[in-house]
Amino acid sequence: MLAKDWNPNPAKSPRASAASAHLVPPGASQESVDSRSRRQGLCACAGLRVLVEGEAQTVVACHCLECQRRTGSIFGMGAYCLDEQVVLTGDCREFTRFLDTSHTVTAQFCPSCGSTLIWRSSRRPGLVGVSVGAFADPQFPCPNLSVWEQTRHGWLDMAPAERRHRRDGAF
Ligand SMILES: [Zn+2]
Ligand SMILES: [Zn+2]
Repeated sequence: MLAKDWNPNPAKSPRASAASAHLVPPGASQESVDSRSRRQGLCACAGLRVLVEGEAQTVVACHCLECQRRTGSIFGMGAYCLDEQVVLTGDCREFTRFLDTSHTVTAQFCPSCGSTLIWRSSRRPGLVGVSVGAFADPQFPCPNLSVWEQTRHGWLDMAPAERRHRRDGAF
């Protein structure tokens, strides 16, 4: 489920309980939700894994040049989840880049094969971006947000995205 009014800082939000309540629909036990919506992502060599409980808060396609370099593909796909939804296990290394003079993005990647599994931006505390490709699941929900479209490869159609921004988009 995509929470369009999701607050990026749930710790300070009076709506914190509402923001996470969607993980357990009325009448559903935690067990049934977990069996339906727990996902595991792997790096290319399977040495690093990420476990995600529940659905992503939002799914973002990012066409920025940094994501293009990081992935080696022409855009990055991130499932943005709450910190408490995500567990990373295995050996990893970190790479930090500056977004601007005061904000960074730190990615955690496998030291053996180089796949990035997760990243955190200081602009969005409490959120973790998880590489959608790590799930190796062609049924994964399509992006509802497409950002940095000013550097999108021209032939790529992002029609499914509900919201599109030329640069960074609010989410
Ligand atoms: Zn690996
Ligand atoms: Zn990007």
